[in-house]
Amino acid sequence: MRKLLLLGGGYGGMRILHKLLPNNLPDGVEITLVDKNPYHCLKTEYYALAAGTISDQHVRVAFPEHPKLNVHYGEVTDIDLEQKLVHLKDQAPITYDDLIIGLGCEDKYHNVPGADKYTCSIQTIDQSRETYQKLNNLGAGATVCIVGAGLSGVELASELRESRSDLKIKLFDRGKVILSNFPERLSKYVQTWFEEHGVEVINSANITKVEPNMVYNHDEPIPCDVVVWTAGIQPNYVVRKLNVEKDRQGRVILTKYHHLPQDEHVYVVGDCASLPYAPSAQLAEAQAEQIVQVLLKKWNNEPLPEELPPFKLKGVLGSLGKKSGFGMVGDRALTGRVPRLLKSGILWIYKYHSGA
Ligand SMILES: Cc1cc2nc3c(=O)[nH]c(=O)nc-3n(C[C@H](O)[C@H](O)[C@H](O)COP(=O)(O)OP(=O)(O)OC[C@H]3O[C@@H](n4cnc5c(N)ncnc54)[C@H](O)[C@@H]3O)c2cc1C
Repeated sequence: MRKLLLLGGGYGGMRILHKLLPNNLPDGVEITLVDKNPYHCLKTEYYALAAGTISDQHVRVAFPEHPKLNVHYGEVTDIDLEQKLVHLKDQAPITYDDLIIGLGCEDKYHNVPGADKYTCSIQTIDQSRETYQKLNNLGAGATVCIVGAGLSGVELASELRESRSDLKIKLFDRGKVILSNFPERLSKYVQTWFEEHGVEVINSANITKVEPNMVYNHDEPIPCDVVVWTAGIQPNYVVRKLNVEKDRQGRVILTKYHHLPQDEHVYVVGDCASLPYAPSAQLAEAQAEQIVQVLLKKWNNEPLPEELPPFKLKGVLGSLGKKSGFGMVGDRALTGRVPRLLKSGILWIYKYHSGA
């Protein structure tokens, strides 16, 4: 039996499984999935889990069941490319013939002192649960600082506002205007939503230090009760340790077929891969589909296409609480109820197709 080892059952990993199972896996190939969690986690919903507006069960989806899929729960600690071995915490290592690394990302703290120790996170389900507890145990009128006003920071601030109207929420944004990469109309809409809902947006911010109950913006101390970090990501630590070529964000540089230049049996999918777009769940899924095409051709001894088609990404959708949203679909900027409904619809379809 040829062994495909899949590290991480996130958005990339799940798309690989759904494309290969139930009927596309050639005879003679079996899959082992390793994940530290006993279910697929809907990371795109962690902001709502942390804000306390959805339940834990809402962000969990069972891994597929199939006779040729072996699901192995464990934490990957190291990958030995020379020996073709994956090391796990407190368990025997696992071998592979083909390997796909889809371990996702972690917070990046940009060397801001105290940020790694004194801020909460929404990057993993465990961290989001801890953040939920801290936020929801706060007394009336407490202050929450959210550092970073990208998609996840904006979604968390708005969801928390709807969840806890008593809290003072400060959202620190590095740009001169919020969501400065989006069209002006959209950025103004989000800014106005925050003004109308009493979320203080602090533009041109630069957080220089974090201490217990204190953030420093341009070295000016600002007292607070909880700080949540949403100001940057980097690949999983297992990938950061790998001795392979990486881009400036630490993501692994790959060939056009998504494998390592020096090893055609090792693929990287999702947030750990160096791709020409910002990391996202839909990018991880689009790349996963191409990896499946490449693997199937190789397993069936068919020639690979000269080029793989460019990724077709559908756009970005963000929520502002449960009733409002914003987004870009194609080159159209959408604001208000329609993008929010679209986002809920996409989540529903995703869960439905994942068997939840
Ligand atoms: C709050 C928030 C909102 C977002 N919203 C959107 C959105 O609206 N649209 C969008 O496209 N993207 C969104 N994203 C980004 C998206 O979630 C990621 O780009 C996507 O999850 C990447 O998929 P992946 O397969 O690379 O990794 P992940 O989905 O993160 O999966 C990684 C998997 O690896 C497992 N794992 C990690 N480390 C180990 C280890 N050491 N051992 C074993 N298993 C391990 C994890 O348990 C997980 O199952 C959002 C992210 C956040 C945080």
